[in-house]
Amino acid sequence: MAYMSTHTYARCTVCGQTLSRTLEFKNRYYCDVHYGLFYQNTRPLWRASILTFGFLVAALLGFAIGNQLAPERFRDTVQSGTGIFIAILPALIWIISLYRIGAQTQFQLSPLPITIFVLGALLSAAVTRPFLYNIVNLDIWIGSTTASNRLMGNILLNGFTHTFTLYAIIRYIAWDSPAFMRRTDGVMFALAASWGYASLINILYVIDLGEITLLNGSLRLITQLCIFLTTGLILGYFIGRNRFEDAPVYHLSVGLIMAATVNGFMLYASSALNSTSLSLTQSGFSPWPGLALSMGGLALTFSTVRGLMQRQNALTQAKLEQIA
Ligand SMILES: [Zn+2]
Repeated sequence: MAYMSTHTYARCTVCGQTLSRTLEFKNRYYCDVHYGLFYQNTRPLWRASILTFGFLVAALLGFAIGNQLAPERFRDTVQSGTGIFIAILPALIWIISLYRIGAQTQFQLSPLPITIFVLGALLSAAVTRPFLYNIVNLDIWIGSTTASNRLMGNILLNGFTHTFTLYAIIRYIAWDSPAFMRRTDGVMFALAASWGYASLINILYVIDLGEITLLNGSLRLITQLCIFLTTGLILGYFIGRNRFEDAPVYHLSVGLIMAATVNGFMLYASSALNSTSLSLTQSGFSPWPGLALSMGGLALTFSTVRGLMQRQNALTQAKLEQIA
């Protein structure tokens, strides 16, 4: 409800300026400028994301065809330099097209997604990786335990560590920033963090191995990427909603738990599905089932989050117009 208030101490949720005239929506106060903005759509976000997902599908077809046609030595050995290029390229395409589309459509974007992207990459290398692999020794434990333990370990250790790191970046860098002025900005920031975070996981994977195979290696990079983008989308949805309305206290916790569970489950399932049983006595490896799961999960989550956000925004707009 919008009303004139006598609160002289109320501050705008977005820019923090002290308000003499208070506009309110679900217990959050706004100045005149930001009251009309929070339910607007961050248009370049959806377009840049669809463009980059299209590129991922095209790259996938390229790797599959290349694997059929390329001479054996190219199929078996992709040098680490090329591998690193494959690992970072999708993220660069996303971030460059985000700003290009923004410039073309005269939609002003702050530099904050770039900062968050870089921080995501740094924390992935400097915090979660040493924690999970040098302190907890998760990879060694996961390699030698039962399937149900692997699932639980992936959710409770991998999923929660990754998700809380991504959440912490946005909570401490973006939450109080005046650049966070729309619900959909929450999704943009969470995706920016996830792109940086996942790209660095992939780069370190390539560096660890020294070289990757053309098909299996590249498909693994795309699988990991899709899992972290799915996590980012879920997280971004809950962060975007919570910043602009007084939700019940459990609302954000539910979002975090959901994002962490999906992350851990997809990490577990994509790897379990790839170890296919060919027959009773033979087992083999195929990179396709895990990739299908993670790409399908990403596509489903993207359309759900986009649909929910647009519906919420339309409802809010209708409500505010009714009041005005
Ligand atoms: Zn304001």
